[in-house]
Amino acid sequence: MQSLAGSVDDYRLALRAWLAEHSDELTAPHAADRREHIANGLALTSTLWQAGWKRVGWPAVLGGLGGGPRHRATYYDELCRAGVEIPDTDLSIEVIGPAMLDHAPDMAAAYLPRLLAGEEVWAQAFSEPEAGSDLASLRTRGVIRGDEVVVDGQKVWTSHGQFAARLLTLVRTGTADSRHRGITALLIDTDTPGITRRPLIFASGLDEMCETFFDNVCVPVDRMIGPPDHGWSVAMLMLQYERGMYAAQRQAWLGLRFRQLLSYLGKVGINEVVEAAIGSAWLQLQTVRARAIETVGRLDAGDAVGPEASPDKVLLARAEQSIFELARLAERSGFAFDDTAEDWRAGWWYSRATSIFGGAGEIQRSIVADKVLQLPKDSDGSR
Ligand SMILES: Cc1cc2nc3c(=O)[nH]c(=O)nc-3n(C[C@H](O)[C@H](O)[C@H](O)COP(=O)(O)OP(=O)(O)OC[C@H]3O[C@@H](n4cnc5c(N)ncnc54)[C@H](O)[C@@H]3O)c2cc1C
Repeated sequence: MQSLAGSVDDYRLALRAWLAEHSDELTAPHAADRREHIANGLALTSTLWQAGWKRVGWPAVLGGLGGGPRHRATYYDELCRAGVEIPDTDLSIEVIGPAMLDHAPDMAAAYLPRLLAGEEVWAQAFSEPEAGSDLASLRTRGVIRGDEVVVDGQKVWTSHGQFAARLLTLVRTGTADSRHRGITALLIDTDTPGITRRPLIFASGLDEMCETFFDNVCVPVDRMIGPPDHGWSVAMLMLQYERGMYAAQRQAWLGLRFRQLLSYLGKVGINEVVEAAIGSAWLQLQTVRARAIETVGRLDAGDAVGPEASPDKVLLARAEQSIFELARLAERSGFAFDDTAEDWRAGWWYSRATSIFGGAGEIQRSIVADKVLQLPKDSDGSR
């Protein structure tokens, strides 16, 4: 197994050759039932972990074979090149894994391998009903009492939260107005007494997320990720992966969807409107891909990408929406109702959310204006 981790190019070619032989034997994640869909994704992850391919990009302390973000981006690229869908749970791996490894290495060594190996689902519970874009205003309380943190409050829009064994959660340990200075990150087991989860169903019918209520939930203090009141730096590290690394992962999947669409269009034929939409979608896809390659290279080199991951998320949303808009144009009237278009219709619905989660488009653009370009504001502070 040790031989799998080498240069990125060697890894790419070895994985490509293995997938050419084995991709037909792998479990396809997609299933209409969400529980089945998640279980299929875990089975696929487990197979690829056992075979060693998914261990590449992670350190030995987690059961990995070394390498870093460039290896992991290559893994996603090659899966999709071979027509294998990326399990949804790989998003939480990319978002939670690096931050936990950085801020709580002992806890990472004890727990993260279960997430990486496809044994458990984890979720990121940051957003609250009154704290989405303005995350620093979150109100879920965490009171440190002896060797426990007692948590009370509510989280919402937690992707895969209803299937998760653990939630990476932000709680307010400082004063009510302490904003980003008084937040602590906790890893909370979802079977802890006092936790209630309710699934939230999208307008499309997808039951991907939940809201979670915490009522006097006692979490051991050794489940803190980093010191008390240092949760903001954990969140910021996570967000650079949620915007940068996620764009790299998702563009690989979008490439697969785009190729599927082209093959379909090759059979049914295209008109001028579709032809223009193909060009536009391809351009958006290449743009986010080029950007993602650069960002992953920087993450791999250990650079703090920070606010510079925001353009990746903006470009990703554009590419995803262009590709599913192309699908809508290509299917014409059948898109809205035909059973055969159901998968593409679901993708179109979901593409609307790409410019919301991980920080809405307006917020990403403001970050670029303020923190990257440092554009001047008007005298009243507005732009
Ligand atoms: C599919 C999906 C999955 C998600 N998964 C998760 C998850 O796993 N974990 C999690 O914690 N959260 C998750 N979220 C929540 C997501 O992070 C929030 O929806 C997002 O941050 C926006 O917050 P909000 O919904 O409260 O909207 P609001 O913050 O109320 O924003 C509403 C609108 O106002 C705009 N706006 C707000 N403030 C400003 C401003 N200062 N300047 C300009 N415009 C502004 C926003 O851009 C947006 O268009 C998910 C959301 C979606 C749609």
